[in-house]
Amino acid sequence: MAELSAGGEAADNPVTSAVEAGKRAPDALRFEQVAKSYGTEAGTVEVLRGISFSLEAGEAMAVTGPSGSGKSTLLHLAATLETPTSGSIRISGEAAHDLPERELAAFRSRRVGLVFQDHYLLPQYTMLQNVLLPTVAAGNGQDDAEERARTLLERVGLGDRVDHRPAQVSGGERQRAAIVRAVINRPGLLLCDEPTGNLDAETAGAVADLLLELHAGEESALIVVTHSAELAARLPRRVELRAGLLGEVAG
Ligand code: ADP
Repeated sequence: MAELSAGGEAADNPVTSAVEAGKRAPDALRFEQVAKSYGTEAGTVEVLRGISFSLEAGEAMAVTGPSGSGKSTLLHLAATLETPTSGSIRISGEAAHDLPERELAAFRSRRVGLVFQDHYLLPQYTMLQNVLLPTVAAGNGQDDAEERARTLLERVGLGDRVDHRPAQVSGGERQRAAIVRAVINRPGLLLCDEPTGNLDAETAGAVADLLLELHAGEESALIVVTHSAELAARLPRRVELRAGLLGEVAG
């Protein structure tokens, strides 16, 4: 089982030794005593104070917590968009944050899928072209990419919208395409920041259904940061950030 400690000791079974011993595949994501602070004119802001958790492939976890508690910071660290002040982060056993910027960007394109509150689809491209962009960025514009994109768009109910531009479809449809774009490269890690935050309740429910369905089919590890108790309740594991520390939510 994946484990979590809130500000406690580092796990006593480092993933590296387990991998070297050939016991099992590395965790999809592992944080060990990760701290993050920002230096500002007003002084140092300690956002995360040493959090540890791990997620296996196929596992899904919701991160909740009050506004400003560091949820987005945690997600950006997992996405390799930010570097921890201290502690270690491993993605599928790799210390990706140590890679040079160029390699890090390629790693991120291949291994991490991101969904934000805003869809960030490019207005000049069709839905299909938008979904295919990460395959180009990752340098794996493989022959089957378009077929996979079409299949996934079909699966999320956008089969008849592939040639439409983002402005010609609804908010829920744009967000469904954003989710397809996030999984197109089969990333081991799917990270979502308030993925249903801009949608009405009914559309949010339908988008959450698709997100969970795609995640289950793709065997990626999933983190969803959300204010929505309803969305968090749909994930098998829930953690809460408070005062820079992570606690498991029971139930
Ligand atoms: P949440 O997603 O839970 O609302 P965030 O991770 O966005 O919280 O932010 C957590 C805290 O870190 C906030 O107090 C925010 O002001 C601060 N913070 C985030 N990014 C920076 C930054 N680049 N510089 C200074 N402070 C930051």
